Amino acid sequence: MPQRVNQIYYKETIENRSNSKDLLFKAGDFVIVKRGIPRLLILRCPCGCGDDLLINLDKRSGKAWRLYSRFESFSLFPSYWRDTACGSHFIIWENRIYWCYRTNELDEGWRVNERIENKVLEVLKENEYRHYIELADECGLIPWECLQACKQLSRKGLCISKNGVSKEQFKKSTSKIQ
Ligand SMILES: [Zn+2]
Repeated sequence: MPQRVNQIYYKETIENRSNSKDLLFKAGDFVIVKRGIPRLLILRCPCGCGDDLLINLDKRSGKAWRLYSRFESFSLFPSYWRDTACGSHFIIWENRIYWCYRTNELDEGWRVNERIENKVLEVLKENEYRHYIELADECGLIPWECLQACKQLSRKGLCISKNGVSKEQFKKSTSKIQ
């Protein structure tokens, strides 16, 4: 059985993707291919299957993921779901891998602090549902942080999510739960 990892390891930023072979050794190792702008993230599959995943970061070449980096702490949005071979499905948030077992079902261990909650609370509206990606962009947050903040605020009765399975849109609650 291949060994799953719960962490990604930044190696280097390179210009040419063919150089990645010499830089990736173990599950979770990754390089960023950048020419002017980030083009590709090459990740040795964290499931341990040994394949390298090519994750597009360049909108001009089709469906692209967003890569967030803060002091060598990397987050990827949305989740990565490989529909062939090992079928890995995971979220990368601040260098950690959160394995998904159902569609975008989030790991129990997620938590953001009150400062982030307050940032989100400031941009939530009372009369209009807004998608958490839009809210994240406005606050300069990683969408995962923003989604988690919305969930925490919902539990406190400070915001509500639009009915439906996806629960991606939120608005400020007009009355606090006592
Ligand atoms: Zn794999």
